[in-house]
Amino acid sequence: GANGAKAGKTRNIVEKMEESGKNCIIFYGSQTGTAEDYASRLAKEGKSRFGLETMVADLEDYDYDNLDAVPSDKVVMFVLATYGEGEPTDNAVDFTEFITGESPSFTLDNDPPLGNLNYVAFGLGNNTYEHYNSMVRNVDKALTAAGAHRIGEAGEGDDGAGTMEEDFLAWKDPMWTALAEKMGLEEREAVYEPIFGITDREGLTRDAPEVYLGEPNKTHLDGTPKGPFNAHNPYIAPIQKSTELFSVKDRNCLHMEVDISGSNLSYQTGDHIAVWPTNAGEEVDRFLEVFGLASKRHNVISVKALEPTAKVPFPTPTTFDAVARYHMEICSPVSRQFIATLAAFAPDDESKAEMTKLGSDKDYFHSKVNAHCLNIARLLEVVGKGKKWSNVPFSALIEGVTKLQPRYYSISSSSLEQPKLISITAVVESQNLPGRGDPFRGVATNYLLALKEKQNGDPNPNPFGLTYEITGPRNRFDGIHVPVHVRHSNFKLPSDPTRPVIMVGPGTGVAPFRGFIRERKKMVENGQAVGKTILFFGCRKSTEDFLYKEEWEEAKQVLGDKFEIVLAFSREGSKKVYVQHRLKERAKEVNELLQQKAYFYVCGDAANMAREVNTVLAQILCGERGIPEEKAEEIVKQMRATNQYQEDVWS
Ligand code: FAD
Ligand code: NAP
Repeated sequence: GANGAKAGKTRNIVEKMEESGKNCIIFYGSQTGTAEDYASRLAKEGKSRFGLETMVADLEDYDYDNLDAVPSDKVVMFVLATYGEGEPTDNAVDFTEFITGESPSFTLDNDPPLGNLNYVAFGLGNNTYEHYNSMVRNVDKALTAAGAHRIGEAGEGDDGAGTMEEDFLAWKDPMWTALAEKMGLEEREAVYEPIFGITDREGLTRDAPEVYLGEPNKTHLDGTPKGPFNAHNPYIAPIQKSTELFSVKDRNCLHMEVDISGSNLSYQTGDHIAVWPTNAGEEVDRFLEVFGLASKRHNVISVKALEPTAKVPFPTPTTFDAVARYHMEICSPVSRQFIATLAAFAPDDESKAEMTKLGSDKDYFHSKVNAHCLNIARLLEVVGKGKKWSNVPFSALIEGVTKLQPRYYSISSSSLEQPKLISITAVVESQNLPGRGDPFRGVATNYLLALKEKQNGDPNPNPFGLTYEITGPRNRFDGIHVPVHVRHSNFKLPSDPTRPVIMVGPGTGVAPFRGFIRERKKMVENGQAVGKTILFFGCRKSTEDFLYKEEWEEAKQVLGDKFEIVLAFSREGSKKVYVQHRLKERAKEVNELLQQKAYFYVCGDAANMAREVNTVLAQILCGERGIPEEKAEEIVKQMRATNQYQEDVWS
């Protein structure tokens, strides 16, 4: 992966450790930022508790063929997320191929090849997926096979059970003990040492062209937008139109069309689009207020890494306001470890004691924080009883608050029909929670909702009181632009259009299938023959959340008996009817189509729906083919392995 390589920087791990005086390198394979976050936390803890000279590294920024040359008085840590169907994260693809490949070729002639290497491993996975934590398992196996020495257990965090954070905390303590023993480290009183230095840029105002004010403003900084646009550099795309798909007042589902014609971006039907959100003004205010930063929110600051291996995660000079608004996940739940860190900076002894208790007592933390969906600022308001937490160094926030992550959406348009227009189908997140005054509002979807209201000139643009206006220079919250990039996926129609397809997509899970169906409709309009195309769609009520109802009629007009939609309305009768029930009713036909090599697709909820559909499909095969259950399950597994069964699911 030359992708992450920066000109003039070494890709040699050993050289890098030597030149920067490090004895512990922490690699992360991260897709949504959690693994990266854990890596940073290990780095900080190693340094403050044990005086380890740590550095965090993106797997794609280095070569691995000299892992064998890392001296035995050093340690390499791997924090590895498993993505989707047991795949490595984008930044770990090359590493995984190298280390789990037939025979990785190292620089030295050691026997065993990695006999010198000490390593630590933690994996992030989701047990609702088939290949639970396969990344860390495979890498651990490969490293051990090559003779490397693992320190402590290979940890596994489970997002499916919702215990990721606790799994991480429970794993790391014995690991540190084992590591301290192995490397002869003395534990010391943890002292906070900032990684970033902040300087006030007096004399510079935020009107100055070099001041970074967030992604939506970036085009103004750069003059013209500069590609390539990717996960490191979003394209500020014009929104061509946005509409509401539900016909109820209390829930929203957005259909949004994003124009990528001004960029080099391209997509294929079935890919994902990433949206770079902006935090709601109210949460930004709350955050800046509680840390005593509100009065200087627009002061221009420079942020510098005080460590040669640390990277400032946003462009600078910038402002406190811009960092909180565009770069910090300020609405997400706070980690127990971060709470423990902040205890040292509490405004009084009482809040210090409370923070220490929250940081160390798992059950107490869950009842106080998690149950109420408290984000960092909301928690500190309660704990500090309204006092300001001005003693918290801004560096601690940059280090401790997760980077604001782009959100992915299954593209719901067809690239054959509209190659430069991408559509998104998104349900707006909003939950009423006990013990919290106002409902929890999802970050990205409420931002998209506000964009829609603004673009359409709705007379009541802030239905939930959330504001995204930025009163300042170079304001790009115009309701017309949204920062995006495209992520390619393997979720694809068969290359032979005459192959039948069975699609199962309740709720927003229908998104990519709208693209698939429009694609086949376009093919027919172009004179091509297509195979049977059957969609199982489910929603609550035919009158409320029946997505794209009119479009299915139009598809029928063109595709004729090649297209069929099978409906499951869950809240119309006395009993719940779901897509998998309908699938079962069609057992005979489903089996016949599969025997004609139909592709089988599932999209939407990973936690329950996708699993249940998998189970029902096995039951169908078992019943229709008169084979034992285990045999049927084996066939479904095989279908997955050969891509005849494809999933695009999320939790
Ligand atoms: P967030 O702010 O990220 O909140 C999401 C959830 O996190 C909340 O509901 C809550 O359960 C939890 N949470 C957040 N903060 C807290 C807190 N302080 N305390 C406790 N819990 C908290 N969605 C679609 O609608 N359509 C699609 O086509 C689609 N496709 C996807 C494809 C892929 C590959 C993936 C990975 C996801 C897809 N999603 C899709 C989901 C989408 O990416 C977002 O997760 C979703 O829109 C919610 O984003 P949000 O920023 O609005 O919510
Ligand atoms: P939804 O309205 O929650 O679900 C669509 C349909 O699926 C409804 O008819 C629902 O029925 C039904 N359903 C519920 N459980 C099911 C199961 N186990 N198997 C099959 N069908 C089932 O709409 P949505 O678009 O999926 O999402 C709405 C909200 O859920 C959003 O806030 C979203 O973030 C959240 N969510 C969605 C997904 C997803 O993949 N779509 C994943 C995680 C979370 P009933 O509601 O009547 O039971």
